[in-house]
Amino acid sequence: MSDIKDEIEQEESGKKGMKDVFKAVEGIKCVVKKSSKFVEEFLSEPMCGRCLPCSLGSYEAMVRLKRITAGIGTEEDVHALQRIGVQMLFGSMCKKGKDTAKFLLESLNTEAYKEHLEKRCNERECLSLDIYTIITEKCTLCGLCSEACKYNAIMGEKKVSYLSGYLPFEIRQKRCVKCGDCVPACPYGAIEVTHEEIKAEAEVEVEA
Ligand code: SF4
Ligand code: SF4
Ligand code: SF4
Repeated sequence: MSDIKDEIEQEESGKKGMKDVFKAVEGIKCVVKKSSKFVEEFLSEPMCGRCLPCSLGSYEAMVRLKRITAGIGTEEDVHALQRIGVQMLFGSMCKKGKDTAKFLLESLNTEAYKEHLEKRCNERECLSLDIYTIITEKCTLCGLCSEACKYNAIMGEKKVSYLSGYLPFEIRQKRCVKCGDCVPACPYGAIEVTHEEIKAEAEVEVEA
């Protein structure tokens, strides 16, 4: 009964309720990304902090889920998520905490986490797992990709026909934000997107 009262109060106050959280993840196909977004949305309103398994666990879960979608997750992250999910399920006082725990635990029953630990997102929604590279043999040094990249991530010098000794264009992985703008900008199909190995450096770390 207090849950219903809480939800009504929440709606009246204009704050996000669980309905909004579920809605925010509706279109996401990747289970891991969906869980990450779910927890992020859950945390996007100030946390009431009445129970520790929820208030601390949900934050840790978000950090670990982000590590996994960024392609730097480990088995330890998955085990921690399992532990957090169980603790939240039994230690949360309200339906919101329990719903979040159930969502997380259900996602952990899928193969998606294993795929992400192997640097694969089969739904191709975890963009950090994509790598953009230029195929040197196809590149004519026209420079159009470099002009299209808003993040100054493509290095190279446009070819002038009467000069020689140019180096091939190259994508700086640390700067690339995986926006994909360079692919249609290349008239020669010289930019490929692979989905195998993480070259970019990890940015998300779990706090000690
Ligand atoms: S489970 Fe509910 S009451 Fe407990 S901290 Fe989370 S949101 Fe607050
Ligand atoms: S994907 Fe985006 S950021 Fe990366 S190189 Fe291409 S245009 Fe630049
Ligand atoms: S647009 Fe294509 S061909 Fe032109 S420099 Fe970039 S990769 Fe090379």
